[in-house]
Amino acid sequence: MRCPNCAGAENRVLETRAINLGIRRRRQCQCGHRWATVEINADIVRDIWNFWQAALRPAKVKRANKRQAAQAKGLKAMSDL
Ligand SMILES: [Zn+2]
Repeated sequence: MRCPNCAGAENRVLETRAINLGIRRRRQCQCGHRWATVEINADIVRDIWNFWQAALRPAKVKRANKRQAAQAKGLKAMSDL
């Protein structure tokens, strides 16, 4: 994790704390800048991303549902062979 202030790669962790979604770390760079990073389970990030995609773009979701329905139809047709 590079420093947001000087982009330096060297920094130390001042504090590590468990939060609801994962782990929060307070960091300090050699330049003196302090900031915090959060470590989150990637599956949760994906779920949150999908949730907001669905919430903010209803038209896109409708298209996706249509496509899924078409795929399901295709699979059904194949299973009937
Ligand atoms: Zn720095």
